[in-house]
Amino acid sequence: MTWTAARIVKLERLWAEGVSAAGIADALGGVSRSAVLGKLHRLQLLGSRKPASAPRRYDGPSLAGTGAGAQPSLRPAPAALARLSEAPSPPRSPWREEVFVPLLGTTPRPWLSREFGECAFPVAGDGDALVSCCAAVKLRSVYCQAHHGVVFKPVSPAIQAVEQRRWSQAAERWAA
Ligand SMILES: [Zn+2]
Repeated sequence: MTWTAARIVKLERLWAEGVSAAGIADALGGVSRSAVLGKLHRLQLLGSRKPASAPRRYDGPSLAGTGAGAQPSLRPAPAALARLSEAPSPPRSPWREEVFVPLLGTTPRPWLSREFGECAFPVAGDGDALVSCCAAVKLRSVYCQAHHGVVFKPVSPAIQAVEQRRWSQAAERWAA
């Protein structure tokens, strides 16, 4: 058996595809596994395979590649994050733009890491990336003094007057 150019090309291709030396010997025919290994060695292809395509042993319950003590990451893959940042954000109302900004002198943090007694008011981001104010809350509120005022805005006297009129008109209709 001679190593013709065609056979060498086939050898290289099969090796690159991850076929074992014995498998290559079978595919080529008329050549032993050790002859294939010798040729691979002379072509300096031994050890050229990527670990992923090389045959591997299953080494027990510990997941290969993560290493001892490695914790599975809860963070989304970078690709997923990139997709999120590329996604068009819905138009924000002027009210939103104006109100949802960090207050001076506060240190906003991710909403998910917010602790008890820290203002929950969102100042940036959306969904899991939401960042909340985290200033000390007002007594009996989940918001700080300023944000409590935003959320529980007192009804203006003008609106109160309109509501009062509607109520009394309705009451008159019921009475009639
Ligand atoms: Zn706040």
